Amino acid sequence: MSATRLDGKVVSGAVVDDLRQRVERLGFVPQLVFVRVGDDPASAYYVRSKERMAGRVGLTSRTEVLPAGTSQAELLALIDDLNRDPEVDGILVQLPLEGIDEDVVLDAIDPAKDVDGLHPVNVGNLWRGAPGLAPATPLGIIALCDHYGIELEGRSAVVVGRSNLVGKPLAALLLRRNATVTLAHSKTRDLAEVTRAADVLVAAVGRARLITPDMVKPGAAVFDVGLTREDDGIAGDVHHDVADVAGWLTPMPGGTGLMTVAMVIANTVEAAARRRGAS
Ligand code: NAP
Repeated sequence: MSATRLDGKVVSGAVVDDLRQRVERLGFVPQLVFVRVGDDPASAYYVRSKERMAGRVGLTSRTEVLPAGTSQAELLALIDDLNRDPEVDGILVQLPLEGIDEDVVLDAIDPAKDVDGLHPVNVGNLWRGAPGLAPATPLGIIALCDHYGIELEGRSAVVVGRSNLVGKPLAALLLRRNATVTLAHSKTRDLAEVTRAADVLVAAVGRARLITPDMVKPGAAVFDVGLTREDDGIAGDVHHDVADVAGWLTPMPGGTGLMTVAMVIANTVEAAARRRGAS
């Protein structure tokens, strides 16, 4: 068997087209502000790709770059300014932050502008099933499932990785879709036995080729989130040979990463529409 490719380029392109039309109907231009501390090249790269997609959708975006060594108080002061600015619809603080308490910073962002979906109010709303903003990578995986008609209701979904950014919010979204959800992590015993039960398997760990073909149920939908930089490029958590067993598989790159960028932009449009009372 050769798995059907879950193409992040195609689906993120469709999301961008829909968002562009929605922005045209809004009657105002939403604004997204990225906040970056220091000059980490990986962070700069991610921000640039989000800025490019924001431009394609018709949003304005800008990046506030603070020098390495910026204090927590200085960063909080900037966030306070952005919270108060009525023209700013989305605030995204690029993580990780060296020497600054990330939770304090995330808690300071106005939940209505929290396009990363990491503020406790948004986390609570997600688990309660109430409206709010959810993290982009999990939203992108659900969007891929919807686009390719991958059924979730009543099916077994296993997410490997339990971070606040990916694993936990994805578990909440899958539960909302009536999947039977298992969260696996570094203390899980016999990971292969757990993953082999999955109709839908998501690997969000950051260990290259962790998921091998013997760990995958034939015909399963497999989503590769993890990224490991190697000398000859980027490796995912899923071994290439899984394509011979799975029914669907995201490429790496070209799968979940592009969807993440698209869903950050989708969150900004949603946040703008809600905060300014548009549809
Ligand atoms: P994280 O906070 O480091 O979490 C990693 C998770 O993997 C933890 O829950 C950890 O378990 C678990 N884990 C570690 N080793 C394991 C093992 N041998 N078996 C099973 N589980 C194991 O990372 P993250 O922020 O969720 O990111 C995960 C990966 O996805 C990273 O490579 C990151 O770069 C990538 N990522 C990609 C995208 C995208 O758009 N494609 C977006 C975000 C992140 P414990 O909790 O027990 O420690």
